[in-house]
Amino acid sequence: MPEYHPPLGNRDSLRLDFNENTLACSPAVLAAIKNLSAADLTRYPERGPIEAFAAQHLGLQPEQVILTNGVDEAIHILCQAFLDRGDELLLPVPTYTMYEIYASATDATTRRVQADADFRFPFKALLSAITPKTKLIAIANPNSPTGSVCTREQILVIAEAAPHAVVLVDEAYFHFYGQTVMDLIGKLPNLIVARTFSKAYGLASLRLGLLAGPESLLHWTRRVLSPYSVNTAALVALKAALTDSDARNYLDWYVAEVKQSRTEFLAALNEIGLKYWPTEANFVLVNIGPTHNEFAAAMRKQGILVRDRSADPGCDSLVRITIGTREQMHLAVAAIQKWKSAGVLA
Ligand code: PMP
Repeated sequence: MPEYHPPLGNRDSLRLDFNENTLACSPAVLAAIKNLSAADLTRYPERGPIEAFAAQHLGLQPEQVILTNGVDEAIHILCQAFLDRGDELLLPVPTYTMYEIYASATDATTRRVQADADFRFPFKALLSAITPKTKLIAIANPNSPTGSVCTREQILVIAEAAPHAVVLVDEAYFHFYGQTVMDLIGKLPNLIVARTFSKAYGLASLRLGLLAGPESLLHWTRRVLSPYSVNTAALVALKAALTDSDARNYLDWYVAEVKQSRTEFLAALNEIGLKYWPTEANFVLVNIGPTHNEFAAAMRKQGILVRDRSADPGCDSLVRITIGTREQMHLAVAAIQKWKSAGVLA
């Protein structure tokens, strides 16, 4: 398998490349982390009590939640637990890179279902690609890099059509969409939902994610879970993020700001004359044309990082731009306009 190296170097600019929170986490969460003592750091982290707390927050039982080292670890342990030789991961593409990477570290194979040019969720094609070998179906909802969504009804039909498979609904961008299937946990026997604290919460560096699912499935994933993979700073941050009213208000403010900014940025793209795909997330996939490399380089020169996704399946010429605050996106629009007026735009 190839190594995977995301382009993380020199990111002191405006970061519109990784779909992170582009501003900061809540000051209340930062204060909780600063309060950690040396003694706190000497002890191995104990995830159990905070796991139970997170479960309660979601209206679930402690056995129905696992905290992970980011959703990436969650995907890793799902692949380890459920994929074996002869099994298949079923994947609508383009989608988040790590599903296929972790699956490739097992003896299973990946079956890809390509979305049409409109990048809508390939529901019918995915349904007809389910076979007895399908053991895991990974659906990012909203999807990255497209921003498209899969409806609750579609998820229900897929889960019922593949009772022998685990259906992972990755709600990494849940806050910017607002719809969830978390309430179906325990009701659908093969549904697992993932959430991350890397995006809206602004805690990507702490590596904190969550898996919710029926106990009958999660006890398999617990067997391959590293006992200390979620560190004490992340646990402390999680508790503050979910309980502190300032932290909750801050999250609501950030999400509302990004949604407003998204509306304005898409309108600006229309005005500039760039084609993009409808998005329910904090990013948008934009068709730049043959000069997508030059575009990304020109934006970087102006202090703005964007992500060239042209190597993703069906994504030739496409660049993904994270949506930050209105003020930040005004800078992005100005930079795109400057690039356009330089006459490089295809
Ligand atoms: N799922 C999706 C759909 C993502 O886009 C990302 C991050 N880029 C992740 C999961 C990974 O999240 P985390 O930082 O929690 O590992």
